[in-house]
Amino acid sequence: MTALPIHPDQRTPSDTSVPVSESFVSIQGEGKLTGVPSWFLRLAGCNLRCRWCDTPYASWEPESVSRPVDELCEEMRATGLRHAVLTGGEPMIFPQLLPLTERLHRMGVHITIETAGTVTRPGVRCHLMSLSPKLANSTPVGDPRDPSGKWAERHEHRRLNFASLNELIAGSPDRQIKFVVTGPDDLPEIESVLARVDGWKPDDIILMPEGVTVPDPDEVAWVVEACRTRGWRYGDRLHIRLFGDTKGT
Ligand code: SF4
Repeated sequence: MTALPIHPDQRTPSDTSVPVSESFVSIQGEGKLTGVPSWFLRLAGCNLRCRWCDTPYASWEPESVSRPVDELCEEMRATGLRHAVLTGGEPMIFPQLLPLTERLHRMGVHITIETAGTVTRPGVRCHLMSLSPKLANSTPVGDPRDPSGKWAERHEHRRLNFASLNELIAGSPDRQIKFVVTGPDDLPEIESVLARVDGWKPDDIILMPEGVTVPDPDEVAWVVEACRTRGWRYGDRLHIRLFGDTKGT
């Protein structure tokens, strides 16, 4: 693991708490570690509002219980697993991520952080930075949950932060960059995003068809072709195939 500088926030008291939407054991359904049994911690709260967000209970309408970092680490230890996935919402908006990842690191746990990559958290411990930069298809224009349009404006302003993406990639020993795609029109934007991001290899790039059902092969043939010609990965959602779109999986 890359030893990043210790941040002063890592000296927060042991009773530091975080807003937890859910924690559970399942298999990783997405990305390079697909199939690996993992402990998932979903923090509630996000600085974005994706139109197609599949965890609105951690973004549009956050539901959470405040839980101490110590208690969460003990829960992880009791699973006997080696892999932890810190997700959201947007986990990087919480400074408590520093003591949490520091303790998991000391326990010898492999840490994946799932983030949109718009916020940095210097000193955070992470083995696999799982970045999901948001394309224009995510902006909630005309969404009834945003009648004033303020979130659409905020989301559009925040969704791509290249300084942050590059800092997060540079600070982690491994990375994957997932794009949720809705049609071939997304490809030029993906190419333009990648042109401004450093430190990736073609097989770090994952195209994931939008949706919370198993896709029709004909509808995603263009995704397969786009990956085949560029050396990128097709991003399946194994948890959807196995468990459907349900919480706790
Ligand atoms: S960044 Fe993730 S959690 Fe936040 S709104 Fe988008 S999909 Fe939902």
